[in-house]
Amino acid sequence: MKESSISIKFLGAAGTVTGSKHLLKTKHTQVLVDCGLYQGLKKLREKNREPFPVQIASINAVVITHAHLDHCGYLPVLVKNGYKGRILMTAPTKELVELILRDSAKIQEEEAFQANKEGYSKHSPAIPLYTESDVDKVIELIETHQDRERVRISEDITVEFIKNGHILGSTSLEFHIDGRKIIFSGDLGRGNDDLLAAPEVPEGAEFLVLESTYGDRIHPKEDVLDLLESVILNTWERGGTTIIPSFAVGRAQEILYLINELKDLKRIPAIPVYLDSPMGTSATEIFLRYSGWHKLSNKKIYNLDRHVKFVKDIRETQRIIKDEKRKIVIAASGMITGGRVLNYISQLGWDPLNTILLVGYQGEGTRGRSLKEGAKELKIRGKYVQIGAEIQTIDSLSAHADQKGMIDWVKAMNQIPEKIILVHGEPTAQNVFRVKLQDELGVEVLVPELLDEIKLQ
Ligand SMILES: [Zn+2]
Repeated sequence: MKESSISIKFLGAAGTVTGSKHLLKTKHTQVLVDCGLYQGLKKLREKNREPFPVQIASINAVVITHAHLDHCGYLPVLVKNGYKGRILMTAPTKELVELILRDSAKIQEEEAFQANKEGYSKHSPAIPLYTESDVDKVIELIETHQDRERVRISEDITVEFIKNGHILGSTSLEFHIDGRKIIFSGDLGRGNDDLLAAPEVPEGAEFLVLESTYGDRIHPKEDVLDLLESVILNTWERGGTTIIPSFAVGRAQEILYLINELKDLKRIPAIPVYLDSPMGTSATEIFLRYSGWHKLSNKKIYNLDRHVKFVKDIRETQRIIKDEKRKIVIAASGMITGGRVLNYISQLGWDPLNTILLVGYQGEGTRGRSLKEGAKELKIRGKYVQIGAEIQTIDSLSAHADQKGMIDWVKAMNQIPEKIILVHGEPTAQNVFRVKLQDELGVEVLVPELLDEIKLQ
């Protein structure tokens, strides 16, 4: 076998679930796999403003697995700091990345403006991490590729995108380097999603970089429609509003789909539903353009918009909050780390008539995690907010596979990887998952720390 000099340096999502950035290095080439933003704990968020740990000019290409902020949200900073190379992703991912980065820039500009106005930022003046004009520069560098297309990155590296059922456009990545293969799972989908097909299984590889968000958990077998119905109905019957913190594109569409099903089946009344996102854009158009990337018929997609009002302007947000009518509100961010959902929770979260429904993974240090663990008070924009609302969780609505889902995915490969490297998970989940993988598959499992570099030989 050829003497290889392949290594991976972990620049984010090592021992935590945000900030995904993995630098794949060979003798000739450096490829950054994902370019995500840190979210959650303050000490993590501060890393978004630290100097980049490797020379940006030495990166030959960036490849993005999917459009979640913790995988693409750092791109504008990279470009602002001088990156001028290729950025590769699938076409639906590009459309979502554009929406999401603009949304993120707008929120950061709004937050900085508000912090300066109210004087709660420790930085004076508060400056957004990036603006929409930085996002424009990112969009110019993006090139899109089909799934299963073998794309040449350099003389020694090619990459293939393989659908993985996490959000629209999401993929695992299979790198071919000098006759050796390395797979990055990306965030793996659940397998029984209402909108997306189960993750496709790659042929296999010598090395696998595997996410581990739910490495220590099995999703409960529960009927999501029943659970959603009972949360919405209980809140409605006592005269309250249901607030669902959710990423505006992807998870939001699955929730809208389920709410429509409940309305069509007359299991809930015609409650007004608002989707609040500064972009104010319906992601359903993107679903329509990429019918090969999801399971819904066009009719079902049109239906997604049928009962929902899109909220764009922050003044409209205030109007909806003040309106005493019962309603359902879906607003980002999903872990309550920022965005419009903060407006709803700071003004409606005190009221025991209301419900806050958590539907995705809640990372450590996020307000979502605090609520899940029973916090009765949250600090939002420098002020303490009392929480009297009922807190509910539907874990099986998460976009991530559970422990069994991930192990089954690896087992289905023709070639079981000899080395598995765990990223994108918190230490407790990673420890449990490492032992389980070693026992079930008899392979070497490594859990890198931030800035570790693992040689693959
Ligand atoms: Zn994700």
